[in-house]
Amino acid sequence: MNHAEIQATNGRRSVAIVGAGVVGAATALALAAQGYLVTVFDHGEIGAGTSSGNAGGIVTGAVTPTATPGVLRSIPSYVFDPNGAAVLRPSHFFQVLPWLLRFIEAGRPARVASIARALEPLVSMAMQAHLELADMSGSRSLIQPVGWLKVYNSDAGFSESALDRQLMTRHGVNFSVLNADEVADLEPRLDKNSYSRGLFQPDSGFVNYPTALTRAYFEGARQRQAQYIQESVLEVRPIEGGGIAIRTDKTTRQFDSLVLAAGAWSKKFAKQIGDNVCLDTERGYHISFASTDDALLRRPVGFPERHCVLSPMHDGISLVSGDELAGLNAPPDYRRIRALVPFAKSVLPGLADQAIQREWMGYRPSTPDSLPVIGRSPSCKNVYYAFGHGHLGLTLAAVTAQLIAGMFSGRPAPFDLSPYRISRF
Ligand SMILES: Cc1cc2nc3c(=O)[nH]c(=O)nc-3n(C[C@H](O)[C@H](O)[C@H](O)COP(=O)(O)OP(=O)(O)OC[C@H]3O[C@@H](n4cnc5c(N)ncnc54)[C@H](O)[C@@H]3O)c2cc1C
Repeated sequence: MNHAEIQATNGRRSVAIVGAGVVGAATALALAAQGYLVTVFDHGEIGAGTSSGNAGGIVTGAVTPTATPGVLRSIPSYVFDPNGAAVLRPSHFFQVLPWLLRFIEAGRPARVASIARALEPLVSMAMQAHLELADMSGSRSLIQPVGWLKVYNSDAGFSESALDRQLMTRHGVNFSVLNADEVADLEPRLDKNSYSRGLFQPDSGFVNYPTALTRAYFEGARQRQAQYIQESVLEVRPIEGGGIAIRTDKTTRQFDSLVLAAGAWSKKFAKQIGDNVCLDTERGYHISFASTDDALLRRPVGFPERHCVLSPMHDGISLVSGDELAGLNAPPDYRRIRALVPFAKSVLPGLADQAIQREWMGYRPSTPDSLPVIGRSPSCKNVYYAFGHGHLGLTLAAVTAQLIAGMFSGRPAPFDLSPYRISRF
């Protein structure tokens, strides 16, 4: 191979990871801890992409997929209702159509039940997996065991959560239905007129500074000799006789194995390996208030009737919302999230005088069936996939990392991994 830098490995197996989001960084730590010589590629800073701006939830009860019969009924509103659960940009329609058809298929009741079964082992192990990686990287203080709260203001809104409650009950999720006083005990600064009931999952965790956790995971890997190369990956290619070539905008290097963790940008690299995947992006937005009052909220609070979450992040309260099907290249459209600012100020009156310090958009890497792609490539045995975590990438990063590390070491899988294989597409 021309211009190829062969990695000096001193006999250790070398692994390239494409993507330094939370999934790539967690996987780097888990593999470096097993003695692999890890090199992480990203054209941006570690943890600075989608993994930086999420709501911070490690949602261990998230067994309900995005596509459900109720959501399918609301699909027409994607086009016609600017305040609906999601929005579809007409210019992206033909590109997203195959994804949308699979999304509709995934929302049939029987499929919802089987997807929930496949989500259960992942989400139920998520917190423990994070705590293990956090202990390895000295970052346990970044994970707060404060639970995940949703509040409802109407009976109709609460009754929309029936499927969620049914699936959580079926899959043994620890949750409780709260009355208004119980919600007030948990979050005294929320306006009491903004809710009548709540749903609380006490076992969920919260990371108020997701970039710091991603960086800490990579630092843990770096202490185990992992490297970070800030270059743009152009091509990943299996080499005849074994190994993988990674061509960047600067040079080409060879590794024994590859983990593809490039989030919403993973599809083209999987294709270069020879595998097709149905992956698009559900773009999401946040507006960050420069709040100086740490006591405004204790944990993320979801408002399902308004499709948004308020989260007390390290630098202020974030109003998080948006599920926009518009692909990877269209400019952001902040109109929907801006329209939620008066709502945010009404439910959390302490925000009234807070200035807006940031508007942000990120790219959820979403499969139509809400299941990530975790596993070995059927086309190339030394390529592993770790992407497609959609709404749950922070939640599932550590458990994904441990599963990938288990595959490298040949450990028996702790549960059936076939629902996450890429060949389902
Ligand atoms: C508004 C919003 C709220 C969310 N809230 C939550 C939540 O509360 N809980 C939760 O679990 N999840 C949440 N998520 C989802 C979660 O943030 C994502 O699933 C997760 O960040 C995906 O992580 P990742 O590492 O797979 O991808 P990314 O963070 O996108 O990382 C992929 C990396 O690959 C790099 N890359 C891509 N192409 C190339 C290339 N050619 N060369 C080099 N590098 C490349 C990118 O620069 C990027 O850094 C939310 C998402 C959004 C948008």
